[in-house]
Amino acid sequence: MGATGGNGYPLAMGTLPPFEKECFRKDGSRAAVLIGAASFEEKKHQGVAFLFDLSDHKRAEAVARESEQRYHEVQTELAHANRASTMGQLAASIAHEVKQPIAAIAWNASGAIRWLGARPPNRREALQSLEKIRNDAMRAGAIIDRIRDFIRKEPPHEDSVDIKRAVSEVIELTRGEAAKHGVSVQALFAEDLPLIRGDRVQLQQVVLNLIINAIEAMSTTREGPRDLRIDTVADASKGIVVAVSDSGPGLPAQGLERLFNPFYSTKASGLGMGLSICRSIIEAHGGSLSAKPNAPRGAVFQFTVADHPKPAS
Ligand code: ADP
Repeated sequence: MGATGGNGYPLAMGTLPPFEKECFRKDGSRAAVLIGAASFEEKKHQGVAFLFDLSDHKRAEAVARESEQRYHEVQTELAHANRASTMGQLAASIAHEVKQPIAAIAWNASGAIRWLGARPPNRREALQSLEKIRNDAMRAGAIIDRIRDFIRKEPPHEDSVDIKRAVSEVIELTRGEAAKHGVSVQALFAEDLPLIRGDRVQLQQVVLNLIINAIEAMSTTREGPRDLRIDTVADASKGIVVAVSDSGPGLPAQGLERLFNPFYSTKASGLGMGLSICRSIIEAHGGSLSAKPNAPRGAVFQFTVADHPKPAS
């Protein structure tokens, strides 16, 4: 036969493998078609040919391609949104945690300047202010280190934590703030508390947040004594329990869990990250953080962490 198909396949071979081609319809519009042909074995001059309009198929393919592209776009958008909200949360948490030591540094620096400028200069007070500045700067640095570890998804430090010492340090740190707001502070520790395995700085961050929240809550109340109480006890089933109780305005009757949501805050300049970060820290330590009403008024925020018995000496 010697004839060839549009794609160069000799019809003499008996078949013309299907190939796509673009044709023009009578109305001048373009159409994609699939063309194929085959001759019958014995009578090579007889055979079948087909021409299949691929327009519907092509349209469906284009729609599928488009929706696949959209799917990828949505995925990318979501990934970005996730990253943006994680970064937002992170930025908010850094701001929240570091704001306090930085404010204290500024306050004590002003104090030091005043003491040094006095006539005669009061070196002793100035030195004390500078010491406080150094401690706060180290605290801010430690917080940033922890946040960096967190970003790197490093596991929390596994220190053997003396909980009495850790809680006492935070109480000392917040004494000034409590006094400023007329809050009396009482700390009770059970005897022979076992050591905790965990991250000391993170656990102190939790206690600090709970104490500051309690002081802030009480500073909004006008009546009644402002009492802050921190109880640290050992519980046979729960491990160590730390409870921070106040005599502030108390908690909403319903929806207590809402307090632990990121960005939930009733304060004018609150970020609402404190309790949510506290909860994730405590949960990472295998414990739990909860809130309940105090009697006769106020709130109790308490957390548990598994204890870690002292090695036999
Ligand atoms: P923020 O302190 O930035 O508001 P938190 O996560 O620390 O964020 O707290 C969320 C909210 O929980 C507070 O805004 C407040 O309404 C409530 N809250 C926290 N602690 C107390 C408390 N001791 N007494 C009453 N309400 C509290």
